[in-house]
Amino acid sequence: MDVNALPAGPASPGHVLEVLRRGGPMTRQELQARVGLSRATMVERLDALGRLKLLRTVGHQASSGGRRAELLAADEVGRCAVVADIGVSHVTVAVADLTATVHATRRLSTRQDPDVVLQQVLSLGRELLAETGRANDFCAVAVGVPGQVDPTSGANTAPPTMPGWSGTWVHDTLAAQLDVPVLVENDANALAFGEHLADGAPSTTLLGVKVATGIGSGVVFGRRPYRGVTGSAGEIGHVKLASHQERCSCGRTGCLAAAASGRALIRRLRSSGARTLLDVVRQVEQGRPEAVALVTEAGHLLGGVLATVVSIINPQQVRLGGPIGALPEFVAAARAAVLDAAHPVALRGLREIAPARLGDSAALVGLAGLTADAVFAPAAVNALL
Ligand SMILES: [Zn+2]
Repeated sequence: MDVNALPAGPASPGHVLEVLRRGGPMTRQELQARVGLSRATMVERLDALGRLKLLRTVGHQASSGGRRAELLAADEVGRCAVVADIGVSHVTVAVADLTATVHATRRLSTRQDPDVVLQQVLSLGRELLAETGRANDFCAVAVGVPGQVDPTSGANTAPPTMPGWSGTWVHDTLAAQLDVPVLVENDANALAFGEHLADGAPSTTLLGVKVATGIGSGVVFGRRPYRGVTGSAGEIGHVKLASHQERCSCGRTGCLAAAASGRALIRRLRSSGARTLLDVVRQVEQGRPEAVALVTEAGHLLGGVLATVVSIINPQQVRLGGPIGALPEFVAAARAAVLDAAHPVALRGLREIAPARLGDSAALVGLAGLTADAVFAPAAVNALL
């Protein structure tokens, strides 16, 4: 039978692979029982997936005697993506396989023309693929960007601090130079998805928050980031605080980001010599009272907004990332504010408000995981046949 004639639908090769990804590793017999196909059709499906190098054998089923059956899995190890976490001051580029394991990373400054930065991301990605010996496994590029990414058009709206980074330009510039899929995702969504993968429980509802130069958050429900209708779900940085009037980079006044972001902290600590996020982090780690007090106040303000989010989405996990968000003083103040103000029934289900488990790698891991979901999506797999 010609594989091109295989029907789409629940029993297509893409769906067989999906069952294996979600439930595997498993033997051919277990997979056949799970999918409900005849033995002959299952052999055809597995042949088709094998020709595309989408399967691997990961061992054998324990047996008390006779021939031991092979355990099959989707081959997420054999494919690699170049992932890039683009921030206001830095971009981190990495090579990761599609189990979301990061193999190599390097950082660049983003304080240059966006076009130059994107070319550097591509050339650094190629270098890292060569260094890790994974050039032949390269299958996609995924970039995380601050601001909103429209789920329908893929266009991103960068913050005012990143002129030139908005529109479909990021996607189109990369796609024009590559013959692999290109994904663009909000950086806080990527962080939340990475933390969700690290949690290891597919059903966990997780709120991930990034506090770096700006403030963003992402929500993962049912194994997917929830992006909202126009891609602005989780954009808590520009929620107005009734008690504040500071001017924000978005042009309004009183936004959470204007009072509690890394940019706001740098501004307030300028007289003590702070020029970068790292300076703020250093001052807090050195225990300088002004820096500790300001970071604690920022954590408290963020926690007040998070209390509302927690009451609405009722998550099991809240993870705080980014150089400011992961500071112990910031986490403690945010945690106290959430526990003080969120709905008691929502708090009953909340297991943890903690720093990002994956630290600086959370968004990179999330981008690799999102790439795996895109590359192994049943429709994408069927389209290869
Ligand atoms: Zn604002």
